[in-house]
Amino acid sequence: MTSHAGSCLCGKVRFVAEAVETEHHVCHCGMCQKWAGGPVFATMVQGVTFEGEEHVGVYASSDWAERGFCRNCGSNLFYRMKETGQLLMPTGLFDDRSIFRVTGEIFIDCKPPGYDIAGDHPRLTEQQTFAMFEQQTGSDGA
Ligand SMILES: [Zn+2]
Ligand SMILES: [Zn+2]
Repeated sequence: MTSHAGSCLCGKVRFVAEAVETEHHVCHCGMCQKWAGGPVFATMVQGVTFEGEEHVGVYASSDWAERGFCRNCGSNLFYRMKETGQLLMPTGLFDDRSIFRVTGEIFIDCKPPGYDIAGDHPRLTEQQTFAMFEQQTGSDGA
């Protein structure tokens, strides 16, 4: 896990993300479908430094999370859990996209039937996904 650079489509927002996982986490939930126009391929990062931060907009998509985007070109930049600060970034933003492998899909029962993502990896239903989130945040009473 190392630092990796990337940008939005128009290039007004550039970034360096720290401790980037080399995993695609694929989310099929209804909100991600609307947000990205399809499933979201995102990876966990420990931190990010933006260049052109004045172009970064933030949308509070739920009580627990917010989603960043470029105000100029509309590229989706990040998904952040408000409570934990956990940060995911779409893998397509990175300059080197060859490093990522699919390691899991969530909200598989929200996936439209017209396509499948190949590979042997966990595929969690909506119920299993929420159970996993509760496990991650349950210990501190969140
Ligand atoms: Zn942009
Ligand atoms: Zn989602």
